[in-house]
Amino acid sequence: MTSELLTIDGSSGEGGGQILRTALSLSLLTGRAFRIERIRAGRAKPGLLRQHLTAVQAAVAVGQARVEGAEIGSPTLSFEPAECRGGEFQFAVGTAGSATLVLQTVLLPLALAASPSTLVLEGGTHNPFAPPFDFLVAAFLPVVNRMGPAIEAQLVRHGFYPAGGGRFVVTVTPAARLHPVDLLDREGEVATSVRVLIANVPSQVAKREIAVVRRRLEPPEEACRVEQVCESAGPGNVVMIELRSDNVTEVVSGFGEKGVSAENVANRAVDEARAYLLAGVPVGAHLADQLLVPLAVAGGGSFRTVAPTPHTRTNADVIARFLPVDIGIEPDSGDAYRVTVSSREGGVS
Ligand code: AMP
Repeated sequence: MTSELLTIDGSSGEGGGQILRTALSLSLLTGRAFRIERIRAGRAKPGLLRQHLTAVQAAVAVGQARVEGAEIGSPTLSFEPAECRGGEFQFAVGTAGSATLVLQTVLLPLALAASPSTLVLEGGTHNPFAPPFDFLVAAFLPVVNRMGPAIEAQLVRHGFYPAGGGRFVVTVTPAARLHPVDLLDREGEVATSVRVLIANVPSQVAKREIAVVRRRLEPPEEACRVEQVCESAGPGNVVMIELRSDNVTEVVSGFGEKGVSAENVANRAVDEARAYLLAGVPVGAHLADQLLVPLAVAGGGSFRTVAPTPHTRTNADVIARFLPVDIGIEPDSGDAYRVTVSSREGGVS
């Protein structure tokens, strides 16, 4: 390996797959090679699972990279990128592993590449512990697009855990650089709407979920929709609550699972929505950890958010290994926190 090798501890902080994905993204963006040890040591099944291996393969393809340790179960990986190139890509997880997290790995490098890209991604599109496709489209991509690139995503088929089989297509028109963004306040009234997806699950489940959201959040009746997903490889159920302000949209989700009542699935999503609404901030818990990489790459930006998660703190630590940025996470008024990213040198272009 030619460039100076960074060593990343995959067990640090949160100890999950995000450490690997952030390292891959920033390695592609900076050209710095890295070796990661103790991959996902904080998880029940540590090492590379199919989703993480697919993310590695995606990063190898996008960055013409040399890699060692890219095998299922591997606890270590060495990665040395060459040149980052846009183009036509197809990445299939092959299980229900999250395809949106595979996208997260290569999206920013492609958003700053010299030529446009089209990606076809296959796997899970609505998985617990991962960004649902709808979060990607309504919450994450609009903020990234405001920073410069033009990224669009279209769902072809839903993929729910555990059957998978989902597919979506993403087109990326790159920008020369990312511009910093500040999201300090929610502007205007928050419009609340809810969509419940069900696939091979009794429609009564969706009705009970909608009833919980209506009772606790009081969205207008016409803003509550049930969508029967006909083309699905297996059963699935997700409650997605969209909270739309004039300058930002958040999407919180509750995932149906065996042994959890429809009421509790909806209650989990409503609890997260209420925490977001009460804090009076524009950025929710998941968007917070996901915005750190674009802001750091832009060389600056800030946002107000709810209490930072271990994902947010760990991601900030990994980013600081690759980029000359300071990421401040300070308590603000009430339940709010303020995150400030500042560069010691300027952004990546
Ligand atoms: P990891 O657990 O390290 O694989 O990282 C999971 C990633 O998925 C983090 O960026 C989380 O913010 C994100 N994530 C998990 N659940 C959700 C959700 N319900 N909505 C949006 N993003 C999510």
